[in-house]
Amino acid sequence: MPSHRPVAVYTGAGMAAYGFTRGSLPDGRHYYDPGRFTAFAAALRASELAPQVRELDAPPATDAELLRFHSPAHLEFIRRRCAEDRGALDHGPTPAQPHMPAAAASVVGAVLDATRRLCRGELGRAFVPISGFHHAARERATSYCLYNDCALALALLTDLLPDQTIAYVDIDAHLGDGVWDAFVDHPRVVLLDIHQHAASHWYSDGHEPEPAPIVTPRARSFALPAGAGDPGFAALWPEQLAWLGAHTPAFIVLNAGADGLAGDRLGSLLYSPRVHARVARDLVALADHHADGRLLALGGGGYHPPAFTAAWLAVISALLA
Ligand SMILES: [Zn+2]
Repeated sequence: MPSHRPVAVYTGAGMAAYGFTRGSLPDGRHYYDPGRFTAFAAALRASELAPQVRELDAPPATDAELLRFHSPAHLEFIRRRCAEDRGALDHGPTPAQPHMPAAAASVVGAVLDATRRLCRGELGRAFVPISGFHHAARERATSYCLYNDCALALALLTDLLPDQTIAYVDIDAHLGDGVWDAFVDHPRVVLLDIHQHAASHWYSDGHEPEPAPIVTPRARSFALPAGAGDPGFAALWPEQLAWLGAHTPAFIVLNAGADGLAGDRLGSLLYSPRVHARVARDLVALADHHADGRLLALGGGGYHPPAFTAAWLAVISALLA
């Protein structure tokens, strides 16, 4: 990557407002609350990385941009239910709250802004901490995800980079099913998803079946057992990295979900931040080799602040290298 291109971290207030202010924790809080961003921003600004990154904001996504993936009925449903300020947008974990449609549009705005700036060569790499809502489907909000910023970025990239291959790598503890379902058959998108086996998620109540492993020429998903740790990841990674490289992607999107780290409340893969450091470092090298350096990293999940802040700072450190 040419050294003059900055590394951006998006820290706008619209995106930072994403999170639920009522939830199922004993004190009434939600696992995904706006405090996640606050914890990340404090850790970033206390680190030696802060002076090296460019903090950016972006306008919220327009309806036309959201409709590149979602349906008009979905946008109408999200806005109507959130305005009612009661109940959930899904089977329960995603409360309908009035501030959420604007916050979700701001997340997508930041991700699309980063995508465009990277394609124009204005940025070398970018990280959007509150992003990576990989569960949302075209007409369905679920599991904290209103709008699928990952899918919207991939859709935009297929427009901006005609005839080129785009790679999406997801190391969040959960399968990125919304992205997967939308792009598994896309001829120019390569998908790699390494997650925790669904049967071992404590909140799944045993009712969420793990989809059959998929290995196609352009899509691979792997379900690791709970407790796999760094060795479990390391046993998979080199072969998958080589497979990604064989596709010569012109742009790489990394969902750096950090709920696989030890200490997390939802995932139990027991990773250390070294997994995120390694993945980011290796994908930076791949992007430099094939993609003119273009790498967009999305924060994804993560519900134990000391763990996810350490993982995300490890990713940013790799982006700066
Ligand atoms: Zn997750």
